[in-house]
Amino acid sequence: MSAPIYWREKLYRYRLVASYCDKCNKKYYPPRPVCLQCGNTELREVKLPNTGTLISFTTVYQTFPEFSKLAPYVIGIIRLDDGTTIVAQLTDVDQIELKEGIRVEAVFRKMYEDGESGLIYYGTKFRPVSR
Ligand SMILES: [Zn+2]
Repeated sequence: MSAPIYWREKLYRYRLVASYCDKCNKKYYPPRPVCLQCGNTELREVKLPNTGTLISFTTVYQTFPEFSKLAPYVIGIIRLDDGTTIVAQLTDVDQIELKEGIRVEAVFRKMYEDGESGLIYYGTKFRPVSR
């Protein structure tokens, strides 16, 4: 991933923000400028909840070069508490038995380092909620 693309997407990587169409009552994450259903271009920004339920997950062993140092890692499909479904990396799962239906929460973590530029990229990941 190039730095310009990363910074363009920074808003939703740093915060769980979706775009919302008032006409269709539909949320988009990552945010989109235009509603896919009605073409509305005046979508507004809405904050997504930080907590949700793990629907499904998979372990990634082979990935893009930028992420290879992180592999293997776990990607989850998460249904946030407002019903929005998102795909995100899971973290802090080493000692915890993952299973579908557990509660998860958003945390702000390092995503990867660019060895050539020395840049460190951060973003939102999800971890199991400790009980
Ligand atoms: Zn719409």
